[in-house]
Amino acid sequence: MKRYDGTDDSLWAATVSRRYAGTALAESLSCDVAIVGAGFTGMRAALDLVEAGARVAVVDAGGVGWGASGRNGGQVNPMLPVFEPNDLLKAVGATYFERLAEVSLGSADAAFDLIRKYQIDCDARQKGWLRVDHCPKARARSRRGAALWAEYGADFRYLDGDDLKRLSGSPLYESGILVPKGGAVQPLSLVCGLAYAAEARGARIFERTAVSKLERGPGGWTLHCGPHRIAAAQVILATNGYSGALRPDIARTMVSVTPIQMGTDTLPDGVLDSILPEGQTIADTRRVIMYSRREPQQRFVYGGASLMGFGGKPVGFETLRRDAERTFPQLKGAAWRWRWGGRIALTEDRLPRFMEPEPGLLSGLGYNGRGVAMSLAMGKSLAERALGKPAEDLPFPVVPTDPHAFKRLQEFGAGIAVIAMRAADAMERRAGR
Ligand SMILES: Cc1cc2nc3c(=O)[nH]c(=O)nc-3n(C[C@H](O)[C@H](O)[C@H](O)COP(=O)(O)OP(=O)(O)OC[C@H]3O[C@@H](n4cnc5c(N)ncnc54)[C@H](O)[C@@H]3O)c2cc1C
Repeated sequence: MKRYDGTDDSLWAATVSRRYAGTALAESLSCDVAIVGAGFTGMRAALDLVEAGARVAVVDAGGVGWGASGRNGGQVNPMLPVFEPNDLLKAVGATYFERLAEVSLGSADAAFDLIRKYQIDCDARQKGWLRVDHCPKARARSRRGAALWAEYGADFRYLDGDDLKRLSGSPLYESGILVPKGGAVQPLSLVCGLAYAAEARGARIFERTAVSKLERGPGGWTLHCGPHRIAAAQVILATNGYSGALRPDIARTMVSVTPIQMGTDTLPDGVLDSILPEGQTIADTRRVIMYSRREPQQRFVYGGASLMGFGGKPVGFETLRRDAERTFPQLKGAAWRWRWGGRIALTEDRLPRFMEPEPGLLSGLGYNGRGVAMSLAMGKSLAERALGKPAEDLPFPVVPTDPHAFKRLQEFGAGIAVIAMRAADAMERRAGR
């Protein structure tokens, strides 16, 4: 089935600071680590590996940022989708709870530090993130979660009433939390910037190069890329929501869904004055999440879930437009010039997965829509493991591939689930639950 390539319909493609332009693999070669997938996960791993002196080749079937990394909402959010500390503790146990809490709470600072270190021009701004509650039950969870996470050093500030309404500019939300360490980037500029930084330090990057087969032999791994081969001691699969037939056992650990976004062109003076006036990004607590942000030149970006999350062009932009006008009535009649989407990976426990199914084969995926900051943290850990760090010292538990419960929920099921989740969100809001 043809997969939707919406990258070129995006505001990010129109405003990217310096798009990476590379060539396809034109000969066979060998390296220490071959990375499949040139998104945040793969490019961060590549950068750390070349900094450590490894010979690295990165290949992507599309190109740098072709996947979710070049198409996302660009919200840099230091929070796992598992909101209460106890839920995380139950899922991963005490040791990994401490490590994952530290990595996730520090992930936005780490992302902005990385951007500064490599001087990446990606419109980075750390002005905070608002996570607003769609119903009273969500409000109670936010208030409780903010207090509980404070014990672990998190700065999540519960807000309600006029304070919240003024910061969000939406009449729809009564409460939420402000996460001052959150922020925003131009995601395509960031992933291209990482690629240029990795390439300048010796990484070889090949666009329009799909890997059709992975083979393990006595000397390491062989990647089949059309007529050419890459021989590598180790392989990192950084294919997230685009994982597929290459390693079905890895692909089955997640369900791929397709969030979508729209962007306006420059809006008339005054339209955006009351929306997110202090420059925070915003997302809500619905299952079918809303996320949006202001852009330079009086532009606005609004995102949500696609109605159907399977291959082919996503639908649902008209529903999204109505949702945008309900959330921000100031946007009534705005012309939405850009419309695009991409694929993300959801996992059953909503936690990222670090996998090592065979010696020398590593994979990290499953950020559940919070992948800008966390995929960079995952890329760092994948590089550390490839460089020899013991698995038990990583912040992510190394988990098996091919869980049984999740593999039956295929993409069609995920599309149906979006409809069911949207109905549940609406019921909760109407019932004031
Ligand atoms: C519309 C949208 C909005 C989002 N908004 C946010 C947000 O605001 N904040 C946030 O934190 N997260 C957000 N996310 C999630 C975030 O973008 C992802 O979690 C993150 O980019 C994943 O990065 P990655 O490098 O792991 O995967 P990707 O960037 O998806 O890269 C995977 C790459 O693998 C390549 N590939 C797959 N198979 C092969 C093969 N066989 N051979 C060669 N190449 C292959 C693909 O071409 C693709 O480029 C959003 C995602 C989307 C789609």
